[in-house]
Amino acid sequence: MFDNIRLMLPGPTPVPPSILQAQALPMINHRGKEFSQLLADCLTGIKWVYGTQGDIALLTSSGTGGLEAAIVNTLSPGDRVLALVTGEFGERFGKIAETFGAQVDHLKAETGRAIEPEQVEEAFKKHAYKAVLITHNETSTAVMNPIEPIAKLAKSHGALVMVDGITSVGVVPLPVDEWGLDLVVSGSQKGFMMPPGLAFVSISKDAWEAHKTAKMPHFYWDFSKFKEWMEKGQTPWTPAISTCYALHRSLELIQEEGLENVYARHEELTQMVRHGVRTLGLKLLVEEDRIASRAVTAVRPPEGVSPHALRAIMQERYGIVLAGGQGALKDEIFRIGHIGNYRPADVLMALSSLALILKELGAKVPETVA
Ligand SMILES: *Cc1c(COP(=O)(O)O)cnc(C)c1O
Repeated sequence: MFDNIRLMLPGPTPVPPSILQAQALPMINHRGKEFSQLLADCLTGIKWVYGTQGDIALLTSSGTGGLEAAIVNTLSPGDRVLALVTGEFGERFGKIAETFGAQVDHLKAETGRAIEPEQVEEAFKKHAYKAVLITHNETSTAVMNPIEPIAKLAKSHGALVMVDGITSVGVVPLPVDEWGLDLVVSGSQKGFMMPPGLAFVSISKDAWEAHKTAKMPHFYWDFSKFKEWMEKGQTPWTPAISTCYALHRSLELIQEEGLENVYARHEELTQMVRHGVRTLGLKLLVEEDRIASRAVTAVRPPEGVSPHALRAIMQERYGIVLAGGQGALKDEIFRIGHIGNYRPADVLMALSSLALILKELGAKVPETVA
């Protein structure tokens, strides 16, 4: 029934056939040596993608569970935290910290703009912060924040750097150790081209130090338990074994292609989408290429064209599923996902379909679009 649908969402993303097949393997004993080997291979692969020698916690959860784990394992109620907000996901990161009793200051960028290091420096002049929460590729607005200089700044003020890298790990370079990032979260259904179900969190030395005194409640997400069990080649709780099979295959695919080639492909796809959208005479929500997400592109439809109508035709007639806007942008934009298992031809198909739909809806479209 869903065999011929083309997802162009910023997650879940299309899953390659060999990953789907890997998931269909029989169950094994999660306390046995076969699983230990599987886990060891997966952890080695994730550390390679992350560029870290530090620890990785492999959690059975969607990405948001990973964000919560990063917070509750390193902070205490009353801690003052700076949340950098460029859209809905940045907002969510701050809200999780607030839910567990942190005192959260939100530093918000204008819609379609990134947070710049100078703004963070200003914030530190007013207050000391225990941690800075940053979203790398903000999926709701398609903004990419400059992580490296912001992280350097935050570390120079002694703050922990927590990064939502859910749509940037395996998409754009995010070298965890080189940039001094304390906790970086990602999830399976984005750049890893897998079904949803696993989240990964890297844990630096400073994050472990903070963990020792962290008082926010945690049981299922307790990093100490993960460390203790993962050193024995197991996870503290029954893992999503099928999704671990998928992860094993995903890491093989990324290795076969080469990480640098994966990044280059996402760069090419991003530039193709941005060029195509501009050629069609449409406005990008993020006008500046430097801060454009390499995972998803947000587009404003022309005057008088509803993004909902456009997306409905795209799905019903062309079989391509685009994402809508989130929050305040719900009726303003549509989003084209190009994260994970895509080739340039997929983008061309979406752009050509878009041109035909715009014509049908009465918008002016240039004759040549590709
Ligand atoms: C998808 C996504 C998440 C996590 O969403 P889940 O539904 O919990 O997996 C968080 N942050 C960003 C930037 C995302 O794109």
